[in-house]
Amino acid sequence: MENIFNFTKIELESFLVQKGYKKFLASQIFNWLYEKKEYDFAKFTNVKKETVEFLKNTFDTSFIEIAKVEEDKDVKKFLFSLKDGQKIESVLMYHNYGLSVCISSQVGCNMGCKFCESGRLKKVRDLETYEMLQQVIAIGNYINQKIDSVVIMGIGEPFDNYDNVIKFINLINDPKVLAIGARHITVSTCGLVPKIKAFADLGLQINLALSLHAPTDEKRKQIMNIANAYSLKEVFAALKYYQEKTKRRVTIEYIMLDKINDTQDDALTLAKLIKNYNVYVNLIPYNETKNIEFKASKQTQIDLFYNTLKKSGVDVTVRHKFGDKISAACGQLRSKEI
Ligand code: SF4
Repeated sequence: MENIFNFTKIELESFLVQKGYKKFLASQIFNWLYEKKEYDFAKFTNVKKETVEFLKNTFDTSFIEIAKVEEDKDVKKFLFSLKDGQKIESVLMYHNYGLSVCISSQVGCNMGCKFCESGRLKKVRDLETYEMLQQVIAIGNYINQKIDSVVIMGIGEPFDNYDNVIKFINLINDPKVLAIGARHITVSTCGLVPKIKAFADLGLQINLALSLHAPTDEKRKQIMNIANAYSLKEVFAALKYYQEKTKRRVTIEYIMLDKINDTQDDALTLAKLIKNYNVYVNLIPYNETKNIEFKASKQTQIDLFYNTLKKSGVDVTVRHKFGDKISAACGQLRSKEI
């Protein structure tokens, strides 16, 4: 049985019409699920008994389960157990501009970024759309508050699960589902060139973040396997295409690794590389983990890097460190049970 949360409104309408029901039933179902938060078909009081029976025999309404919640001051980390027993994690962050959830898009990840704890677990499978959607719904229900923004930056490479991720984006953006504005949704990629182009063709007003992490192909290859598949020339050609299509500014994510990519020369090379693009750079202090040998850049080095970029006219910020005490920070998402 397919999970009902996998369906967009249009998909559900066309499915129901094919089965001989009125299109309007889809609106009623969406209203119960997303407005009233009622997940038991038997309680859909405005739906006929026979129709309820049909729904019960046709759709699964089960939820991914919250197996554990850990808290740090401005962060809650959720461990979810999926129907097949796999585990994924999501992080809720309390920003001064609202509540943001960082979701996982795959069980494990095949991209093999060498600094990433999440990627040490090879991909087991892609998440279905409902498993992504329910991370956001379950967290909203748990804290009984509306989630303001969603970032697809947890475990997995979102563009390696492209179709399900796009459907997920459409669902959370739907005013009748979670009504999260396009500009409050961010998808992050380590640089899957064909998918960046496909995403550009959709013309969505979603934020795109590119995990660059190094300013030359040589350095990038040292820390990211994807650099062996696509050169920076190809990645930036895709970025140009994306910007021509969408006119959107892109975030360049840059993780600060001690003596790997954090010299002043690296900053100057980076400034040169991005100078003709509408981007801003987000410097990410690295969260060390005991399983990976990379070390975090010293604060003085981050300051020097930041100031060098600034002086070169680059718009740059340093990301606030979230949840490193509970291993909820970037690159640390990984089920302890595994
Ligand atoms: S940084 Fe992202 S893309 Fe790279 S291995 Fe980790 S989860 Fe995968």
